[in-house]
Amino acid sequence: MTRIVIAGGGLSGLSLAAHLAVVDHRHPVIVVDDGRDPLGGRAWASWSDRAGLLDAAACRWFDKIRVHVNGTTKVLRLGRYRYRVVRGGDLAEVVRRFTDPLRHFTFLEGHVDRIADDGVVVDGQHLRARWVFDSVLGQAEEPPADAFLSFRGWRVHTERAVFDAEIPTLFDFRTPQARGASFVYVLPDDAHHALVEHTSFLAPDVVTDPAAQREALAEYLTEVVGAGRYEIEREEHAVLPLRAGRTGRVHGNAVTIGAKGGLLKASTGFAFQRVQLDSAAIAESLHRNGHPFALPGESARFRMFDGVLLDVVTKEPAQLERAFAALFRYRTAEPALRFLDEATTPSQEWRLFAGMPAATYLAAARHRLVSS
Ligand SMILES: Cc1cc2nc3c(=O)[nH]c(=O)nc-3n(C[C@H](O)[C@H](O)[C@H](O)COP(=O)(O)OP(=O)(O)OC[C@H]3O[C@@H](n4cnc5c(N)ncnc54)[C@H](O)[C@@H]3O)c2cc1C
Repeated sequence: MTRIVIAGGGLSGLSLAAHLAVVDHRHPVIVVDDGRDPLGGRAWASWSDRAGLLDAAACRWFDKIRVHVNGTTKVLRLGRYRYRVVRGGDLAEVVRRFTDPLRHFTFLEGHVDRIADDGVVVDGQHLRARWVFDSVLGQAEEPPADAFLSFRGWRVHTERAVFDAEIPTLFDFRTPQARGASFVYVLPDDAHHALVEHTSFLAPDVVTDPAAQREALAEYLTEVVGAGRYEIEREEHAVLPLRAGRTGRVHGNAVTIGAKGGLLKASTGFAFQRVQLDSAAIAESLHRNGHPFALPGESARFRMFDGVLLDVVTKEPAQLERAFAALFRYRTAEPALRFLDEATTPSQEWRLFAGMPAATYLAAARHRLVSS
């Protein structure tokens, strides 16, 4: 019997389970999770220009975003894109709709100790599998982090009706830049409730300062948004390693998926949509070829762009606002989102880059090429 084990039932593990369920192969699939990161309080926002298998899990859809750069606020339509929010509980429920009718799917509570040559070790027990998809342990050797994305978000309830329920703010640079290139992101629920998140790109040797992040959030709410009194209902924070280098994903019969598989986009920290595309490609490869290795190649050009951007903004924080201003200078956000989706052509990219200081970026690119 050809068994598949998915280590980790978070975003990438569940997304892969759903995609495997619809390609109609008959391998038993076991998803193992030890419950350390309950899905209940989690949510992912992302943009997409196409229908997805898990769209039914989205609780909010937006067709505009707000950005604030160079002292100006702009509302941008998304063109063929939509911005959506998926909550963890809804994701789990939709995935169960795909997997529950199929008796060959099992969700197991257990701790993955290690990935073995022929399966995984769960709570000390060897579980044999033909293929293992690993979102929890990853490869022993990972490329070094080029930067860290450090963010702290408050879900707030404000006294005044200050949020626009229909339009999230993708980035607002009215926040101190002293500790690193920083912006504030606002995901509204209604006029009084929103997730307000302070986000910084930090050089690898810079340590996150939680007090400074909280101070910046308080300042933003009071002075920029004019929220009046507010209550913090929940706080979330994370420091994500951003890697522009290639992550080796295959080791024997195990393939790393999700953040461990290098699917966090290094210049944004977003992974949701990339995980959906990766899950679909893995399921398709298993179905067509009997193995999961026929995956689209990674683009060296976009890895270079990501690495260069991180090098530039971690040295000169003010360049992040300039870069975002250049990318999002069109009537719609579509050209920028297509670039961030790695779906642009070189000639489109040269047009997008106009407005960025060419000498700074070329010097960073040259430095990367020489030191690689
Ligand atoms: C707070 C936060 C907010 C984010 N928001 C967004 C967003 O809005 N949009 C976006 O695109 N990206 C976002 N990301 C980035 C990325 O999409 C997420 O990190 C995403 O959850 C990565 O998916 P994953 O499957 O790799 O990891 P996870 O979703 O974290 O799943 C890993 C699972 O493995 C389990 N686990 C861990 N170790 C073990 C073990 N040894 N044995 C068994 N189980 C184990 C955990 O319980 C967890 O369920 C965010 C990241 C964070 C940290």
